[in-house]
Amino acid sequence: MDLGAIPSHFFRFWLWIGTGMVTKEWVAIHRKHHAKCETEDDPHSPQTRGIKTVLLTGSELYRSEAKNQDTLKKFGHNTPDDWIERNLYSRYSWQGVALMLIVDVALFGALGATVWAVQMLWIPVNAAGIINGLGHWWGYRNFEAADASTNVSPWGIVIGGEELHNNHHTYPTSAKFSVKPFEFDIGWGYIRALELLGLARVRKTAPQLKLGAVRPVADSKTLEALIANRYEVMAKYAVGLRAACKAELAALQASGAKNSARLAELRLAKRWLHRDADKIPAAVKAQVDNACQQTPVLSKLVTMREELRALWTRTNVSAEQLVVDLQAWCHKAEQSGIATLQEFALRLRAAHA
Ligand SMILES: [Zn+2]
Ligand SMILES: [Zn+2]
Repeated sequence: MDLGAIPSHFFRFWLWIGTGMVTKEWVAIHRKHHAKCETEDDPHSPQTRGIKTVLLTGSELYRSEAKNQDTLKKFGHNTPDDWIERNLYSRYSWQGVALMLIVDVALFGALGATVWAVQMLWIPVNAAGIINGLGHWWGYRNFEAADASTNVSPWGIVIGGEELHNNHHTYPTSAKFSVKPFEFDIGWGYIRALELLGLARVRKTAPQLKLGAVRPVADSKTLEALIANRYEVMAKYAVGLRAACKAELAALQASGAKNSARLAELRLAKRWLHRDADKIPAAVKAQVDNACQQTPVLSKLVTMREELRALWTRTNVSAEQLVVDLQAWCHKAEQSGIATLQEFALRLRAAHA
């Protein structure tokens, strides 16, 4: 989003007085986190550094990365570099929070020291610990983003909406973090209020798949809608795959099968098969693969999921070729005799950009 000059300066002042963080450092570390997510270069990934380290020492990780000049040079571009930044905010960074202590004590007397302590703990505990730690470790996922990001809570109130971290990593340029009807992002409320006052302008929110008239065949518009909404489409596909696993499991149980190995494998498949291959724990991978190979419907669904994904993961393929491939995919799905795939293909043909 674009922020007007008044709120923009207010928030820079608030960052200084409330946290002592330097805009350029925070932005650079945050951009690097997105760019190198869950790799050794990620400044605060619990996947590489361990959950305990990030939860308990998140702010230390932040401070050490803030000293990395390479990070600031590579990822800190287009951050404020005006007179007040150079001569006050960056230069006297910790004096901001000292000023806050004076203000708190002046306002609340001795209680002000407690107010100040809570303010000082807020970012290290909630942002550096909980969001950077738990937000890549524990919670639910709406989308199979390439990283391990999770939504810690469907109601983003306490940490300004950052709780919805899987949504944020899936659509990092969206100003709104909630995507499901049951989710709430209080930050979005603030943004909308500022927008109504003419102080902000939202540039981007998450795309939403629109369904309209079913096209006779998939075309370039279908492809466009599919690629723009690929995370949502794949989430829908995962629901279908999970239902198929459940149906296979139920059928096997109904037939009175005593082959417990097969039952166990199908149970694992129901738990994991709808996830991306690299998200399935190594310990159960062989069993999940076996369940898939032994069940024609499941193996077909997995194969076709990968074929669908190939529509946006391959480079060096012309748009015309992709449309042809998409048409072939839909045709194959409709001829498969599998209801899930038939319905899915129909839905794809109804997609509008
Ligand atoms: Zn993150
Ligand atoms: Zn982010």
